[in-house]
Amino acid sequence: MAKRMDPELLYVECSQCGFPVLWAAGDTTRILRGAGIDFSALDERCMIVSEGCPRCNPDEKIFSTHVVRLSQERPVHRPGPGTN
Ligand SMILES: [Zn+2]
Repeated sequence: MAKRMDPELLYVECSQCGFPVLWAAGDTTRILRGAGIDFSALDERCMIVSEGCPRCNPDEKIFSTHVVRLSQERPVHRPGPGTN
């Protein structure tokens, strides 16, 4: 069962300064919709990257955004079956 991800819950980070970007309630939905991003493809492993933010680009009002999916390729060292 795929649960629909609420875009408002996604973490947004600025690619320029690396700070988390805090959008007002409803803005994430509006911005993603404006960027043509398919909400049904989002899940909790996605995050949003903004090309700039009001912190590092105070003159800009509109920032292009895209969604990145975090991979789960963390090395897991798990003892194999049979080891105690
Ligand atoms: Zn920034």
